[in-house]
Amino acid sequence: MIALQTIEAAVSCNTCAAKCCRLEVMLITDTGVPLRFIQTDDWGSETMARSDDGWCAALDRSTMGCSIYENRPLICREFEMGGPDCIEERAA
Ligand code: SF4
Ligand code: SF4
Repeated sequence: MIALQTIEAAVSCNTCAAKCCRLEVMLITDTGVPLRFIQTDDWGSETMARSDDGWCAALDRSTMGCSIYENRPLICREFEMGGPDCIEERAA
């Protein structure tokens, strides 16, 4: 049986290619996301804009890191590495 600590240690953003950055991210607070990365629907709801391949438009493709880290949305701040949603995305 693999120890839980071993499984947790294997979960790292460095080996993941930013899978969670392909999810829809709603903007529910103002964290200073640059307007060019914001998409607004017909009802006024704001989400992070996404590129044709599905990744967030703010993802730096050369590093696969967030290019607006200091201003990233609340949902991104609360997405926990190794948490249930993270594990689900990595398995998908
Ligand atoms: S939080 Fe999880 S899903 Fe997102 S990049 Fe890190 S390891 Fe991957
Ligand atoms: S804002 Fe940054 S952390 Fe959030 S989905 Fe986009 S690239 Fe990922």
